[in-house]
Amino acid sequence: MTEPAKSPQPAAGNTVARFPVTRWFALFVLLGLPQAAIILLARLAGALSDVSAWMIIGALLAVSALFAAWHTHAAWRVLRRTDEILGGAPRQSGEWDALTMIGELGATVERLRQTLLDEQGQVALHSTTADAILNALPDPVLLLDDGRNIARANFAARKFFGNDIIGNDLAVAMRHPAVLDAADAVLRGETGMASADLTLPVPDGRSFSLRVVALPASSEGSAAVLALHDLTALRKAEKMRADFVANASHELRTPLASLVGFIETLLGPARDDEAARIRFLGIMRDQAARMARLIQDLLSLSQIEMREHDRPSETIALAPLLRDAAAALEPQARAKQMPIRLVLDESLPPVRGARDELMQVFQNLIDNAIKYGRAETPVEIALRAVEADWLEVGVRDHGEGIPREHLPRLTERFYRVDSARSRDLGGTGLGLAIVKHIINRHRGRLVIESELGEGSSFMVRLPLPARSGLPAGPPVS
Ligand code: ADP
Repeated sequence: MTEPAKSPQPAAGNTVARFPVTRWFALFVLLGLPQAAIILLARLAGALSDVSAWMIIGALLAVSALFAAWHTHAAWRVLRRTDEILGGAPRQSGEWDALTMIGELGATVERLRQTLLDEQGQVALHSTTADAILNALPDPVLLLDDGRNIARANFAARKFFGNDIIGNDLAVAMRHPAVLDAADAVLRGETGMASADLTLPVPDGRSFSLRVVALPASSEGSAAVLALHDLTALRKAEKMRADFVANASHELRTPLASLVGFIETLLGPARDDEAARIRFLGIMRDQAARMARLIQDLLSLSQIEMREHDRPSETIALAPLLRDAAAALEPQARAKQMPIRLVLDESLPPVRGARDELMQVFQNLIDNAIKYGRAETPVEIALRAVEADWLEVGVRDHGEGIPREHLPRLTERFYRVDSARSRDLGGTGLGLAIVKHIINRHRGRLVIESELGEGSSFMVRLPLPARSGLPAGPPVS
């Protein structure tokens, strides 16, 4: 929208132009003298008497004077006004020539035309700039006319509502009472600005904050700008934070309640029961260890989240790291009679990575493979190159597998396929969330495949150093 054009005013302090008397006189002489001369010649030729010749000459001179005054005044006014419009100082009486007034008027009209063209160019430039700015905004912005129809829409709005919304009533794009009420109130002039928070069920239940602002009324009536700010990600993050605190408290409250219960039992009814004391203390030790694991995992998660945008700078060879990770979990595997089989391509180059973090990734995955794999079946660990510039570490178990619908959510905090089983096995529900954040920090990918009854494979892909300068792979979802 543009502001109504204002006529440029004469610069302050300029004196008002005086009527150009000399130019009037020159015109008067030019008009009057030839006629007076003709009458004089007529008199000399005897065609006129003295009296009538002087009367006619007087009348002609008077008419010429008046005509010259009228003509000079009219031109003077036009030129003075155009000077004002063009923003120049008022024209002084000596600055222009009455004899070439027509030429001067022509030149002034040409200057006016040029100015108009320049202004049109400026308006077009402003309009293009405004369009570019609106299109650069990530949030949808609509321009509404007097009748609540969509007159313009930026790129984000066209992407969200579709290209064919222009010219339609706002209700076609957003049939939401809060939106329509806000737009109507502003367009009717009841308020200069209206806002609301809303969730649009179509197309995908996104949350927005909405603001409608009135534009200066023009000859075409009122108009308003409607801007939407997408709050979906913010709301999701808020919900995740709230869920996280609720989950973490719940996870800690359960073993804590169990500890308090056993302490009270040991202080009360089981005070002198030696066998019960030994059994309860064993359970209490397990519960305390579970709380310690949970707190350790929460700390790891928060630390890795803080570093997530900061890619590690050191390099590490994966084959020895995997051997160490497997060795650390050998006792658990042996307890379930599960052999750990390593198939490692030793010729592969090192990757960019933090040793402790990658160790945590592979230990979590191998630990899960042992926990959820069937006893007496192997855990297979492989290191290979894939897609030319990625290394892949695969950890495969032969357990019950994971139903397909759970796969996309496995890396969410505290998400478990079978909560009771996970807790019985000492799981915190945070292992894969930690894995996801560490892999994100390494610009890698996590691929999970599973077949019910057959087992699961967790594949960690890390970019080879040749890719270091290239953009990272998509983050693990
Ligand atoms: P937990 O501490 O419960 O193991 P994780 O974050 O490591 O937490 O894993 C989340 C859930 O994913 C587990 O509770 C389990 O249901 C499932 N899961 C992880 N790894 C496997 C696997 N190898 N086989 C079957 N299910 C698995």
